[in-house]
Amino acid sequence: MESQQDYEQTFSFEFFPPKTPEGADKLRKVRDELAKLNPLYFSVTFGAGGSTQQGTIDTVLEIQQSGSNAAPHLSCIGSTKESIRELLNKYKDNGIKRIVALRGDMPSGMQETGEFRYANELVEFIRSETGSHFHIEVAAYPEFHPQARDAETDLANFKRKVDAGADSALTQYFYNIDAYVRFVEDCEALGIKIPIVPGIMPITNYKQLARFSDMCGAEIPRWIRKRLEGFGDDITSLRAFGLDVTAELCDELLDIGAPGLHFYTMNQTGPTLEIWKELGL
Ligand code: FAD
Repeated sequence: MESQQDYEQTFSFEFFPPKTPEGADKLRKVRDELAKLNPLYFSVTFGAGGSTQQGTIDTVLEIQQSGSNAAPHLSCIGSTKESIRELLNKYKDNGIKRIVALRGDMPSGMQETGEFRYANELVEFIRSETGSHFHIEVAAYPEFHPQARDAETDLANFKRKVDAGADSALTQYFYNIDAYVRFVEDCEALGIKIPIVPGIMPITNYKQLARFSDMCGAEIPRWIRKRLEGFGDDITSLRAFGLDVTAELCDELLDIGAPGLHFYTMNQTGPTLEIWKELGL
């Protein structure tokens, strides 16, 4: 973890684009509350293959106009170079300086007809089109990407994104701190020198978390899973336990020199704010 300690610790919050006017109103309030914590930026997810893309653009521009820094996620699977170029120009023209560059996943039933296969190709394209204008974040997987052939290949593929010009990385969420430490050390051994910021998923809803985790390959350790199952409908106890576990994880991460935290807010203030308060940040 030595190289990570050289970086300033940064904090950021992730949103998804709201689907309804009520959701948009609620998100404005959440954003205003979280903006008081002075994050480096708010990022907004992007649906691969067409879904919710306009929502991402609208949300990002609104955040930027409100005076905070916005970072759009941009996934490339199923896209043409021309469509990505248009988006990059739009963001550049609106003062956006940071992009989270991803491959994304094709929605089921859609054909993969785009001009990009992997995120490293997107990073390369952004650099060739816009030089050093954007700070490029990429995704990292301490417990490995679900489609990875093996751990070593996945690390080599992560390095491709860094070699293509990524400035920093945000991890998939994890609850095994050892997986993150080992991942960072393996990256150091490969000569990767960028901040690898842990992604933090607050625990508020067991069924939802279990579903997400099955999809994205993040492990909920057995002892946490068993406790969460045991709470049943007792949401108050579940949330208190979830807060305890995630705040302790964050505390340890910052202690060992993680270069900040990126919170998956799920468009809610409470869970992130509670962890923040526990950390005394
Ligand atoms: P890549 O880095 O391209 O990797 C994908 C897989 O291909 C890996 O198994 C890798 O080992 C392999 N691979 C990579 N490069 C090569 C290569 N050159 N040759 C052969 N194999 C290769 N999804 C969305 O749709 N929208 C979002 O907004 C979004 N935000 C995210 C934010 C974060 C912080 C994270 C961690 C994930 C996010 N995702 C999002 C999910 C992400 O799109 C999926 O995990 C997707 O399956 C992989 O994207 P990637 O950019 O990591 O892909």
